[in-house]
Amino acid sequence: MPRGITPRRPAKSGRHEGLRAASKASGKIAAHSKGSVFSTPKSRDQVRTAKKAAKSAKGYNPTVPERVSELLKRLDQLYPDVTCALTHKSAWELLVATILSAQSTDVRVNMVTPELFKKYPTVQDVARLEPQQLEPDIRSTGFFRNKSKSVVGAAKKIVSDFGGQVPENMADLLTLPGVARKTANVVLGTWFKTADGVVVDTHVHRISRRLELTRNDDPKKIEEDLMRIIPKEKWILFSHQIIWHGRKLCFARSPKCADCLLENICHAEDKTWSTVDRHAGAKA
Ligand code: SF4
Repeated sequence: MPRGITPRRPAKSGRHEGLRAASKASGKIAAHSKGSVFSTPKSRDQVRTAKKAAKSAKGYNPTVPERVSELLKRLDQLYPDVTCALTHKSAWELLVATILSAQSTDVRVNMVTPELFKKYPTVQDVARLEPQQLEPDIRSTGFFRNKSKSVVGAAKKIVSDFGGQVPENMADLLTLPGVARKTANVVLGTWFKTADGVVVDTHVHRISRRLELTRNDDPKKIEEDLMRIIPKEKWILFSHQIIWHGRKLCFARSPKCADCLLENICHAEDKTWSTVDRHAGAKA
C-alpha cells in the first residue's frame, strides 16, 4: 500500500471515535451511512441510529457512477501497476498456467510450470502426448487428471485447427477443451491486451459481492454486471487489481478491513471492522 493512505486502525479499547474518512472525495458517498452497526446496539439512541442506517441502505445504489469511479480511483492508489502473477513467456504458456491454476494457487503453479515448459517447450510437444503422460508433471496442482486432459486437448486443437497459434478471440478460445470465459479473459487481457470481458475468479467473485457491484452468484452473470458498470478501458486492470486485493487484504476469511483503503465505502456484511453500516446480503 502506498505511504500516507493507510486508514487509521481501530483503537485498542474498541472505541472508534474520531475516525476520519480515508478520502475527502468519499465523504458524500459514505455520508448516508454514518454510525456503525458493527456491535449490537444497546441504548435507545443506538437502536434509532441502526434503524436509520437500515432505512437509508434501502435507497442506496452501490453502482452509481460516482461510487464506482471512487472505487476505481482507490484501487489505482492501492494497486497502480499490477498484472497477472502467473509466470509465462507466451500465450500458450499463459493458457496452460491458467488452466493449472484452477483450484490451486499461482505460487504452486509457478513452481510447476518452469520444469513443465522445459520438458515440453512447444504446443506441438504437448499435442503429441496422451493426457496420462502429463499427469505426473502437474500432479501437485490438484485435479491433475482433468487438467491433463484439458492441456493436452487444448494443444491438439490449437495444432490441428489454429496452425499452432493460441487464438486471439473469445469465440475460438472457447472451443478449446478446458477453456471457459475466465481462462479466455485472462489470456485475451493479459497477453493480447484485448478487453473482451472481465476475469471472474474466486477473488473477483467474492469481492464484487462484498462491494455490492453484483448480487449474483453465477460467474457469467457477475461478469455481465461488472461489464455494465466498469468502463471498458478498465476491465483488464480492474480484474488484476481485485485479484491482488483478494490476495493482500480482502481474504475470504477475516479480511483485513482495518487496513483497507476501501473501508468507508464498503458495506460488506462480513467485514471484520467497520466505520459505516453493513448491508445485509453484501457478502461473499
Ligand atoms: S473493507 Fe474489508 S471487506 Fe471491504 S473491501 Fe476492504 S477488506 Fe474487503
